[in-house]
Amino acid sequence: MRKQIAAANWKMNLTLNEASTLLDELLNTPHSLKAHQEAIFAVPAPYISLATQKLGDKMNIFVAAQNCHQKNSGAYTGEVSATMFASMGVKHIVIGHSERREYFAETDALLAEKLDAVLAIGSTPIFCCGEPLAIREAATQNEFVASQLQNSLFHLSAEQIVKVVIAYEPIWAIGTGKTATSDQAQEIHAYIRSFLATKYGQAIADQISILYGGSVKASNAVELFSNPDVDGGLVGGASLIATEFAAIINALK
Ligand code: PEP
Repeated sequence: MRKQIAAANWKMNLTLNEASTLLDELLNTPHSLKAHQEAIFAVPAPYISLATQKLGDKMNIFVAAQNCHQKNSGAYTGEVSATMFASMGVKHIVIGHSERREYFAETDALLAEKLDAVLAIGSTPIFCCGEPLAIREAATQNEFVASQLQNSLFHLSAEQIVKVVIAYEPIWAIGTGKTATSDQAQEIHAYIRSFLATKYGQAIADQISILYGGSVKASNAVELFSNPDVDGGLVGGASLIATEFAAIINALK
């Protein structure tokens, strides 16, 4: 079975003490992970040591970074490389979140470079894609997402693409409280998988985990995740509440 993943994206939230409390609360809230399930915590970079201390030895729980630079090292003041994260025990990195595309002008071409950097050191990129509201209203979301995938991912080999986790996140659903319906999520996830199959073949496409992101909560996670092509979620707001995120972990199939 494909990996089923609940990934928390804390974004730029919480102080160190608040982060510590949230991790303790989460560990004390009943949740369980089967062999094919993972929980991943994309915490702010300064809290990675704290998170790896608290979570590092837990089965199927991983700490992730929210972004990285495309180069390994050099004169890039303020940046952090995938190599640096790996040296701290972090092997999952979110790449291309819509907030980075929008506020930091990250292009498909730049994201392709970041993916290469992450894969080159054996880490796992969680690659985000998804359309803005105007594209959804024009019903051209499939073409929009296909071009994101084609531009950033399709230079990868079959061996590399199976190491990528994809997060489909419609921008109109991120942090808005508006969730895609279960049918909308399944429809585009199935499309993404079929599009991957056109390039890599069905057997490879069937191995790739595709997460849904956009106002996932404890109350909608079971229904969203029950879809055959939805392999879990990338969760912002609800990941900041221990009981919510524990319930989302427990909703994985
Ligand atoms: C996200 O940050 O990727 C996200 C989906 O946020 P939210 O769950 O708050 O919509």
